[in-house]
Amino acid sequence: MKYEPSVGLLAGVELGGTKCVCILGSGPQDVRDRVSIPTGQRDATLARINEVLDGWWDAHGPFQALGLASFGPVDLRPQSKTFGYITSTVKPGWEGTDVYGRLGGHRNIPVRINTDVNGAALAEGRWGAAQGLHDFAYITVGTGIGVGSIVAGQPVFGCNHTELGHMRIARLHGDTWPGICQFHGDCLEGLASGPAIGARAGVPGGEVPADSPVWEPVTHALGQLLHIILLTTAPQRILMGGGVVVSRPELLARIRAQFVKSLNGYLDLDDLTGGVDRYVVTPGLGALAGPLGALALALQAAPALQAAPAADAVSVANKRAGC
Ligand code: ZN
Repeated sequence: MKYEPSVGLLAGVELGGTKCVCILGSGPQDVRDRVSIPTGQRDATLARINEVLDGWWDAHGPFQALGLASFGPVDLRPQSKTFGYITSTVKPGWEGTDVYGRLGGHRNIPVRINTDVNGAALAEGRWGAAQGLHDFAYITVGTGIGVGSIVAGQPVFGCNHTELGHMRIARLHGDTWPGICQFHGDCLEGLASGPAIGARAGVPGGEVPADSPVWEPVTHALGQLLHIILLTTAPQRILMGGGVVVSRPELLARIRAQFVKSLNGYLDLDDLTGGVDRYVVTPGLGALAGPLGALALALQAAPALQAAPAADAVSVANKRAGC
């Protein structure tokens, strides 16, 4: 892991579906403070985050930059009137929230916003399991399912960021459970997110037994996500994290097996990737990938880094910052 001696104090906020994490520091080896806040009613949650940031500002001095890594969808189009807003989220009360303005707009420092998964992907590229790679993907399976696709060192961005969690998939033969996505029913997120797993099993997701039959359609769905990602952006590695996968290490082998089964010999994974076990891996930063993603975004915004990139920066993603 790389210390960031050339960069001053940075702050970041990861806004997640169940909790928001504020982080102060400059990297994994320099985390000065971290505060977790439940994601509740919008105004109260944002006010609490601002209290934490203001407290750090008073206690430690000005931050050099602020990074915001938010659940979404987030409007990231620079010219849009709603740049930095959470748009059509299923999170009650959060639709149309000006995250950028309410957390960063009033501070006279550079502020960078992106999705939580793109932030986490950039952090993994800089400090974690994707160091040295210019094309990789970071998947999170938790309250929702998100994918941060890094292509040529940058998060994929066209008319907006990608939302692969809502892709349609082929259903497991005989499975007719309708799914829970309010937009699509049985899209990937509607079938395989933490809340979907809990809804299908009839108990909270964390209490579903390892031998429950619900895991078969879940791993079947996630195997297809890997299949699609490989065929779409051809990443050099895929990182798979989020609460569902991290809390159940046994799942990854089943997801890898479903991935191989789905490809059905179409590509030679061993030749292309060195083998599926090396290709689909857990994040190097573990549960810190999300909060550190907010710091990675702050690093992109920090003037010192832009003026003089660290000579040993291993992540092309950050050398080519600009998402
Ligand atoms: Zn959906």
